[in-house]
Amino acid sequence: MYLKSLEINGFKSFGRKSTLEFKTSITSIVGPNGSGKSNVAEAFRFVLGEQSIKSMRGKRGEDLIFNGSTDAGRANRAGVKLVFDNSKKLLNIDFDEVSIERVVFRDGVNEYFINGSKVRLKDISELLAQAHIGSTGHHIISQGEADRILHSNPKERREMIEDALGIKVYQFKIEESSKKLEKTEENIKQVESLRREIAPHLRFLKKQVEKLEKARELKDELVKMAREYFKREEIYVNKTKLAIADEKNAPEGELAELDQKLLDARRMVEAGLKDKELPPEILTIESSLHSVRYQKDELMREEGRLEGELSYIKKSIEKEEKVQSEIGNKLVPLWEVETLVNDSKIFFEEGEIGGTLESLRAAFHKIRESLARFVHKHKQSDANDVLLNLKKEADGIHGKKAVLEQNLKGIKLEEEKLIKEYEEKRTEFEKAKDDTREAEKEIFKIIARQNEVRGALDRIKSREREVLFDAENLASDMRDISALAGLEVLHFNDLEIGTDLFEARTAQHDRHKHLERLKIRLEETGVVGGEDLQKEHNETEERDQFLARELVDLEQASTDLHNLIKELGERLNVEFREGVQKINNSFGKYFALMFGGGHASLKLVRPERKRKAEDELTGETEVNEEDEGIDIEVSLPHKKIKGLIMLSGGERALTSIALLFAISQVNPPPFVILDETDAALDEANSRKYGDMIENLSEHSQLIVITHNRETMSRAGILYGVTMGKDAVSKLLSISFAEAEQVAK
Ligand code: ATP
Repeated sequence: MYLKSLEINGFKSFGRKSTLEFKTSITSIVGPNGSGKSNVAEAFRFVLGEQSIKSMRGKRGEDLIFNGSTDAGRANRAGVKLVFDNSKKLLNIDFDEVSIERVVFRDGVNEYFINGSKVRLKDISELLAQAHIGSTGHHIISQGEADRILHSNPKERREMIEDALGIKVYQFKIEESSKKLEKTEENIKQVESLRREIAPHLRFLKKQVEKLEKARELKDELVKMAREYFKREEIYVNKTKLAIADEKNAPEGELAELDQKLLDARRMVEAGLKDKELPPEILTIESSLHSVRYQKDELMREEGRLEGELSYIKKSIEKEEKVQSEIGNKLVPLWEVETLVNDSKIFFEEGEIGGTLESLRAAFHKIRESLARFVHKHKQSDANDVLLNLKKEADGIHGKKAVLEQNLKGIKLEEEKLIKEYEEKRTEFEKAKDDTREAEKEIFKIIARQNEVRGALDRIKSREREVLFDAENLASDMRDISALAGLEVLHFNDLEIGTDLFEARTAQHDRHKHLERLKIRLEETGVVGGEDLQKEHNETEERDQFLARELVDLEQASTDLHNLIKELGERLNVEFREGVQKINNSFGKYFALMFGGGHASLKLVRPERKRKAEDELTGETEVNEEDEGIDIEVSLPHKKIKGLIMLSGGERALTSIALLFAISQVNPPPFVILDETDAALDEANSRKYGDMIENLSEHSQLIVITHNRETMSRAGILYGVTMGKDAVSKLLSISFAEAEQVAK
């Protein structure tokens, strides 16, 4: 015996808490129509987890809660608690007594409890299924539902039978595994889709990484080559600059000198040009000379005239003297002669004392005059007067001539001096003219040389520009290449480049060309963000590999699940077939017992539609076992009735009872509830029914709701259900005699 008690509180008509205790293997519930007996059967369904409110004759959860009456207030919750004796471990839970409880609230919320602990519906369903107390309620036959199994379609029948055979658990497992499989396949799809999503990106990244590798190689080559190029170029540029600076020195110095020379020469020429006109000093000399010459000519003419006069007077004197001599000599006192000598002596000494020519001249003059006066005194004769006058005149002329000659002499000296001066100046002037011409010639020479030197310097400067251009290019290359390949490329100072420093310039040009090609190739790779890219590639690849592993795992899981489902399906089928076979054995027996002969059996059938489709397709009838349903074949004794549809109400009831009992025999459920299953039976059949429930109660506890006296008589305990004015169902334990009374 597995059932201990059922406690109903607020469920349907049981407004107050009522408890049924199941102490015997057959418990009978009796009572008048509408007193609430079926509500007890529904209380079982409810507590066992029935989700169809309709099967409990309600529309909403609320309909299951005591709705109150004129005398009693409505309940807020409906609760039913079923207590099992679990000492035989019917339920897989380590308690000797197990209570299962369900409560529904007016808002439709359900709560489930196992031994007072709140659980999920699933926990209860699993616990019960494993104890052959399935949710299809094959062991609860509601009022008028006795022949439900006959009405059902083959598939529903199969489900009921599976449930009764306790192999529904495979179904659960299959469903569970199918859900898992579904989920796994979804995951597989997701992972495959993720991999598909990643794939192009990964391919892209792979290519980029390959490019990156290539770029790295190119970069290394570029760095190596560039360093050597830079080193050589720097040496070349520096050396060339120094050499050019050195080379420039000489011509630049020479040019500076030439400039100075040119300046001097130009100055000279400029100066020479100014002196082309006769300088005023020469002109002054010329004019002075002219005037002196004029004076000289005048004096010489005067001298000539005086000489002419003198010559005439001389001739006149000679003539006179001749006359005079003829006159004779005259005596003169001595003292007079001595006085004359003394005077002359004194005059002479005075002249000497003067020391100059002038003083001497003056002395002679005085002496001559005293001599003249002496002679004149002694010639005081009339004859001598003419001669004296002549001589006097000649003396005057002589005096004039002496003065003139003196002047002439001075003039001549001045003329000589002027001529000398003029010639000197003139020579100087002529020489200056010659110098200018030389300077002009020199200018031409200087300019020619300047051009020559400038040409040479220009060639040097052109080389200098070239080397400066090379230096600029070097700097620009350094910038470009270091931007492209990193600053390390600039660390070339310590580079050993061998001894071949003086190679041909074309070697560097070739290197530069090579560098340019490398640069272009490196740029063409177009790879940026090397490290990030590598990292992203690694991460993406890892992710892809992770997904690939996951996919393998999932596929393995899927295969395992497929196998499990197949295996479970096979076991289900095997057990189902075996179960059906066993049911058939009992079914036949019970049927023959009920009908006093004839036979009935269950038959596995495939759905019509499916079978047709399959036959058309393959031409053979391959059975998909899971799709098979159950058909019932009956054959009544003495009657030619073959189909269920032709049976009478009572015959149907008997057939279904036979089947239900047969099912219950194969895998007896812990309890069976039969709500007026015997309603349609006549007396004779009621007895047979009574025999069968007794038979059945050997393996399962029975709760029979009945109006049937025969059935009541088989029960150990009888409960009477009554409903008073308060419309609340009440339970009371009663005797058989009372029960008969109550049932009426
Ligand atoms: P019969 O012998 O005619 O089959 P019964 O004893 O099986 O009758 P039930 O069908 O169990 O009677 O009970 C029906 C009674 O329960 C009705 O009187 C109905 O009004 C009452 N009932 C059903 N639901 C509720 C509810 N939520 N609250 C109160 N009473 C309810």
